[in-house]
Amino acid sequence: QTVLGIESSCDETAVALVAADRRIIAQRVASQDDAHRPYGGVVPEIAARAHAERIAPMVAEVMEEAGMELADLSAIAATAGPGLIGGVMVGLVSAKALAMAGDVPLIAINHLEGHALSPRLVDETLEFPYLLLLVSGGHCQILRCEGVGQYRRLATTIDDAVGEAFDKTAKILGLGFPGGPAVEKLAREGDPKAVPLPRPLVGGKEPHFSFAGLKSAVLRAKDSGRYSNADIAASFQQAAIDCLTDRLERAIANDGHAPALVVAGGVAANASVRAALEALAAKHAMRFVAPPPKLCTDNAAMIAWAGCERLGQSDPLDYKARPRWPLDPEAEPARGAGV
Ligand code: ATP
Ligand code: MG
Ligand code: FE
Repeated sequence: QTVLGIESSCDETAVALVAADRRIIAQRVASQDDAHRPYGGVVPEIAARAHAERIAPMVAEVMEEAGMELADLSAIAATAGPGLIGGVMVGLVSAKALAMAGDVPLIAINHLEGHALSPRLVDETLEFPYLLLLVSGGHCQILRCEGVGQYRRLATTIDDAVGEAFDKTAKILGLGFPGGPAVEKLAREGDPKAVPLPRPLVGGKEPHFSFAGLKSAVLRAKDSGRYSNADIAASFQQAAIDCLTDRLERAIANDGHAPALVVAGGVAANASVRAALEALAAKHAMRFVAPPPKLCTDNAAMIAWAGCERLGQSDPLDYKARPRWPLDPEAEPARGAGV
């Protein structure tokens, strides 16, 4: 059984063919970094147009590489939200057209569920429940994953996501776009103790996150002219990691403990973040699972895999794209909730 996945929620156009036995048969990720770089961030209209130009030829490519036809597919899975609505609509409408043409079921996937289930694509022994740190460009959450579609949110950010903090730090340091990998690279040359930076919410009783204050402190450090870019990058990265591990410690102490600690989302590509989490997992006798970096940042293999996890589901062809779509609808938005 094979699922075609389509991802277009931000600035990566991605398609993939994944088999239910966890084989990634073919995949493509087309980044739009060059198109957005002049603007220092993702421009939604440019992203939507680029997705529209690329999806059809990329689908044709992976199908040809696999020697498959639409009728051979068990389902077509597409990101239906959350994300930049123009791009999501382009990917979803492409999937609908293919589903109709091939008479194949459509499965609408929550992009965050794609990230959340991606570790199960690469580790067949990873069972529910597991404790998930979801760290990406738009989200910073701790979730207890109890089953497919069953996610209990234990924490979220009250302001910025951690990936956003990496991107803003890169901008402040003039490292360009996208920022996360550039900060990680420069941080290797710096002293993580050189710049005193805050660790917002560390020690707090609820495991929530906050990164806005850290970003402002990075800006002040840069403006002071007293520190090298490498020292600022290293100190920022260390502060961010300290926040992530402290908040996870809190979630585990509250009621988050599970047999495995799992990390997913773009920031999970960061080697220092992974090392810190691996150590934390060991300390709590939890198994640690992280997808390879290429499956941490946006890709369609994770969307196709989420489709594999949901085989049997068939969504209507008038399914609406959702700009906002929380994984845990029960969870109150923490924004402004006064944690
Ligand atoms: P979301 O998944 O919340 O909708 P998104 O899809 O835009 O957001 P991802 O593609 O999952 O986000 O992750 C992108 C983020 O990950 C960016 O903020 C980027 O800076 C960050 N990132 C990528 N690589 C690294 C790295 N090596 N170190 C730190 N951050 C990184
Ligand atoms: Mg991107
Ligand atoms: Fe993402």
